[in-house]
Parts: sequence; C-alpha cells; structure tokens
Amino acid sequence: MSLEITIHEQSCRGCELCVDICPTKVFELDKEKLLCTVKHSEDCIACLSCAYICPSGAISHRDFHLVKNFYRDQAFCEKMEKFL
Ligand code: SF4
Ligand code: SF4
Repeated sequence: MSLEITIHEQSCRGCELCVDICPTKVFELDKEKLLCTVKHSEDCIACLSCAYICPSGAISHRDFHLVKNFYRDQAFCEKMEKFL
C-alpha cells in the first residue's frame, strides 16, 4: 500500500510552514481557500517534518515506511565512538 497524506481542512490555517519545510515540494497553497493541499504525495520521503512543524497538527500520514536514523540510535553511537 502506498503512503497517504491527509490535511485536515478544518484545522489548516494556511500558514504555509509545511510548504516551506517540505524538501520534495509535496504541498501547495490553495490561494483561494487559503488552505494547504497535497499535490505530489508520490514524492514524499516520509521525513515527517511537515507533521512536526504544523502548528495545528493538521497533517497526518498513513502507510509510510519509517527509516530509522542510525545517528540517533544510542546503542549504535556507543559502538561507533571507539572509531572517532
Ligand atoms: S503547516 Fe499546517 S496549518 Fe500551516 S498550511 Fe500546512 S497544514 Fe495548514
Ligand atoms: S513527510 Fe517530509 S517529504 Fe513528506 S510531505 Fe512531509 S515534509 Fe514533505
């Protein structure tokens, strides 16, 4: 199943923070409605930056594959320390 991005229209305040932060330009602002819309969900890399930055908590994702950031894995960092 492919990734799904939902913007809850009633929560969106059109601030464009998600438009600005998305590295792959998934969103566009609907200038008439002053609401953000999902234009290219196929380009989403599931970084979740948009969901974190949205002040209204209006963005949600489904069926995404989360890649674990190895540099945040404490056990891995401890193993690597001896090489630094
Ligand atoms: S960051 Fe949230 S409130 Fe702002 S435009 Fe995007 S979805 Fe709407
Ligand atoms: S999860 Fe990342 S790539 Fe996907 S829409 Fe949000 S900011 Fe863009």
